[in-house]
Amino acid sequence: MHFHVITLFPEVCKAYTDSSILGRAQKTEKGKGAKHRGKKISVSYYNPRDFSKDKHKKTDDRPYGGGPGMVMHAEPILRAWEKAVGKKKTAKIKTLIMSPRGKKFDAEMAKELAKKYDTVVLISGRYEGIDSRVQKILKADAVSVGDYVLTGGELPALAIIDSVSRQIPGVLGRFDSLEDERVSTGEMYTRPEVFAYKKKKYTVPAVFLSGNHAEMEAYRRSKSDKAR
Ligand code: SAH
Repeated sequence: MHFHVITLFPEVCKAYTDSSILGRAQKTEKGKGAKHRGKKISVSYYNPRDFSKDKHKKTDDRPYGGGPGMVMHAEPILRAWEKAVGKKKTAKIKTLIMSPRGKKFDAEMAKELAKKYDTVVLISGRYEGIDSRVQKILKADAVSVGDYVLTGGELPALAIIDSVSRQIPGVLGRFDSLEDERVSTGEMYTRPEVFAYKKKKYTVPAVFLSGNHAEMEAYRRSKSDKAR
């Protein structure tokens, strides 16, 4: 899966996608058999500033019709998109524009993206947002990560990359498996068995020490039902 992120703040996003599981998924790990991992994902960044024809590299302007804030120019974003997608315009490319008024992103969408596409372009807005013609020209989907407004589309783009990547075979280690294949982890404990904090002792529930996996699952299920 190739992710292409169009953002004014690539370095902020790159720090995240180069870390931990997503970082590992972008590398080839040499080794025999199960120890060999090819690259599972790639993440590339495009800064609209680098595609601006303006001599001051301006990427935004005042909105038509007035009102507060600035609107991001269509052209630098479209040129960044062309650069990302190149000539291979196939049906396997999906373009998403981050927007608090878009379709609500969920696990279902993450699965569908992982399954149907090999290239996802994520366009991250700033200020008041992006000139609406971008969405029309690219036939892009507007996507929201929740009913709240953030200052930029970077966190939403990262959330989408992260959750879609988890759906790609081999991205998660052998041990971690996808939540929907088992009861989601819920309560969890690691050493020590008895943890003392401010003169109080906190123990691990006995069921987790029993080695009885059926009981553990039942325990977790009862807890997660309660949480819902
Ligand atoms: N007044 C604007 C808010 C812009 S927020 C509006 O109503 O659209 C600035 C940018 O942050 C947006 O262009 C979008 O890319 C991103 N953003 C903010 N909240 C978001 C959310 N919940 N989901 C996805 N993107 C969001």
